[in-house]
Amino acid sequence: MIAVITEKEALKLFEIERRRLGLEENISLEFRDYKSWIAATFLNKRIIRLNRNILKKGWARKNGIDNHRKFLRRVIKHELMHIKTKSKWHNPRYFWDLM
Ligand SMILES: [Zn+2]
Repeated sequence: MIAVITEKEALKLFEIERRRLGLEENISLEFRDYKSWIAATFLNKRIIRLNRNILKKGWARKNGIDNHRKFLRRVIKHELMHIKTKSKWHNPRYFWDLM
């Protein structure tokens, strides 16, 4: 399957979002072949794992490459917010900081 967005490009998007949220560099982005998860965040290890499959064409087909990138950025931001709020829950601060 052809990757529409490469892992290298996803890492760049990750760095942009991380800096925007004012988070330190000690957070890793890893790629995994999950069956049903889009992404997972491990708060203590400061690791975000993305399902490699969401980089692929099937996820972008509907609205094109720009929307695919936007989707990916939102997924990454969502996971980074869990690290920023130090919580796996979607507490009020989570939503406040999204504004
Ligand atoms: Zn969440």
